[in-house]
Amino acid sequence: MAEFPVTDRTRVRQVPRRGAYDKETVYRILDEGLICHVGFVEDGQPFVMPTLYARLEHRLVLHGSPGSRMLRHLAAGNRACVTVTLVDGLVLARSVFHHSVNYRSVVVLGAGRLVTAEAERLRALERLTEHIVPGRWSDARRPSAEEMRATAVVEVSIDEASAKVRTGPPVDDEEDYTFAVWAGVLPLEEVALAPLADPRLRAGIALPRYVRDYDRRRARAE
Ligand SMILES: Cc1cc2nc3c(=O)[nH]c(=O)nc-3n(C[C@H](O)[C@H](O)[C@H](O)COP(=O)(O)OP(=O)(O)OC[C@H]3O[C@@H](n4cnc5c(N)ncnc54)[C@H](O)[C@@H]3O)c2cc1C
Repeated sequence: MAEFPVTDRTRVRQVPRRGAYDKETVYRILDEGLICHVGFVEDGQPFVMPTLYARLEHRLVLHGSPGSRMLRHLAAGNRACVTVTLVDGLVLARSVFHHSVNYRSVVVLGAGRLVTAEAERLRALERLTEHIVPGRWSDARRPSAEEMRATAVVEVSIDEASAKVRTGPPVDDEEDYTFAVWAGVLPLEEVALAPLADPRLRAGIALPRYVRDYDRRRARAE
C-alpha cells in the first residue's frame, strides 16, 4: 500500500490541495524531522510532549525514563497523535492577512505499545540514535544491561497519517500586487554550527565525518 487511507479524521480540510497521503511524502518528512510532539489525553487532560523519535518501518519509536507519564500512557496501549513539523520559510505577503509559512508537516494517529523483547528494544535504540546522528551507533559505547533496564522503549503504530506541504511565493489579492512593500519568502532551515569539542575529550581523537558534515536535509536531498 503506497498511500494511507484518507479517513474523515485524516483528510486535510483547509486548502486540501496541500494535503498528501502517500507514504513517500509522509516518511520523508518523518525521516527529516528531529523532534515530534506527542499528544494524548490522560484522565480528561490533554498533554502534548516534545520528544525525540525515529521511524522504524511503519511505526515511530520513542524512548525515555520508565517513569515518564507519556511513555507509561503509551505503553498501556492508549492512542496518541504525533506531529512533526519542518519550517522551510516565512512567506511575506503584501497584506498581513496573506502572510504564511512554507512548511512540511505530518500528523500521525496510532496506538502505543511497550517494546519488551530485548533485541527489538536494542534495534529501536539503534534506529533512534541513527535518526538523530547517522553513524553514531557504531562509534558510541552500547547500552549496558543496567542502562537498558533504566530505558523504556515504546512504539506508536502509524495507523493513519497525513502530510501537509506549503511551498512557493505569497499569494496576494490581485489589487495588492501594486502595493509598495517588499514581498517574497525568507527561507529558513535547521543548520549545524561548528562542533564544540568536550573540554574533557581525550587528546588525538579526530572529529568524525558524520559530525563535521551533519545535515538534517539529507532525507530531502536523497
Ligand atoms: C527537544 C526535546 C527532546 C526530548 N527528548 C526526550 C526523549 O527522547 N525521551 C524522553 O523521555 N523525554 C524527552 N524530552 C523530555 C520530555 O519533553 C518530557 O519532559 C519527559 O519525557 C517527561 O515526560 P512526562 O510525560 O513524564 O511528563 P510529566 O513529568 O508528567 O510532565 C507533565 C507536566 O510537566 C510539564 N513538562 C514536562 N516536560 C516538559 C517540557 N519538556 N517542557 C515544558 N514542560 C514540560 C508538562 O507541561 C506538564 O505540565 C525531550 C524534550 C525536548 C524539549
